[in-house]
Amino acid sequence: MGLPSRGLTEALVADFRRSGGRVRFSTEVKRINQRNGSNGSTAIVHSSVDSQEYDQVITCAGLQADRLAARSGEDKNPSVVPFFGQYFILEPRFNDTVNGLIYPVPDPKYPFLGVHVTRRIDGGLMIGPNAFLSFSREGYKGLGLNVPDSLAVATDPGFWRFAAGNMATAAREIGGVLSIEKFVAEAARYVPALDGAGGRRATRGIRAQAMNRNGTLVDDFVIDRAGATMFVRNAPSPGATSALAIAEHLIDTAALT
Ligand SMILES: Cc1cc2nc3c(=O)[nH]c(=O)nc-3n(C[C@H](O)[C@H](O)[C@H](O)COP(=O)(O)OP(=O)(O)OC[C@H]3O[C@@H](n4cnc5c(N)ncnc54)[C@H](O)[C@@H]3O)c2cc1C
Repeated sequence: MGLPSRGLTEALVADFRRSGGRVRFSTEVKRINQRNGSNGSTAIVHSSVDSQEYDQVITCAGLQADRLAARSGEDKNPSVVPFFGQYFILEPRFNDTVNGLIYPVPDPKYPFLGVHVTRRIDGGLMIGPNAFLSFSREGYKGLGLNVPDSLAVATDPGFWRFAAGNMATAAREIGGVLSIEKFVAEAARYVPALDGAGGRRATRGIRAQAMNRNGTLVDDFVIDRAGATMFVRNAPSPGATSALAIAEHLIDTAALT
């Protein structure tokens, strides 16, 4: 059953505040500098509002992870290449077709999970996501063209190496992007009862796909350490489901240093 991540996040924020934590929204972190003192290193977080010094900092900047790391003096690679993932909600008459989640066998060439079938908590049936290059890191509607984001991809030599080896897959994926019928047909390959189902576009997510300089996709977690800061540079799916376990790992690692 798919759970809305917003409600989960709000509950975690409430827990954190009850324990004395402070949450700042709409405050962009511009860069982080390391300071080495006689008592060890600290990190100075420069934000759009102020600069504050901390004993330990963990960054999880998702689609902006490479930019924040680079602005903080770290390697710009792995770079982030945005891939959107569109979901579709099927007609209500298909709601009872499945009772849980059904996933295709993953293609080991790609870190994407493939089009899966999800019974939502509201009873609806959702299929998706597809995977195609996004023209914006944060364009959640329409074509979502963002010139700096598109230029970043176009000038990334790793991306062109990746593209050269994946034209056939891109051609197949674009079919499912342009046509709901093709998209449903993909899901119907392993849930035949969905054959011919109609639907409407639902939410779109944008994957922060980390890419190596040589154009290979990074399919594992990447966590870099610089002084008192840990940069989470790649947290692919199931990063949301395993968020609490990842947090424990990060805290344990921070405590050891
Ligand atoms: C289409 C799609 C489907 C997915 N499905 C699943 C799934 O079924 N199960 C699962 O477990 N995972 C899934 N994932 C993956 C999951 O969403 C990620 O693993 C997870 O969100 C990564 O968490 P994060 O904290 O690293 O980054 P994010 O969740 O992207 O959070 C980063 C946050 O940092 C903020 N930020 C960025 N830059 C700055 C800055 N400079 N200053 C301040 N804030 C900043 C952003 O606004 C954002 O709020 C899916 C992802 C996509 C795109």
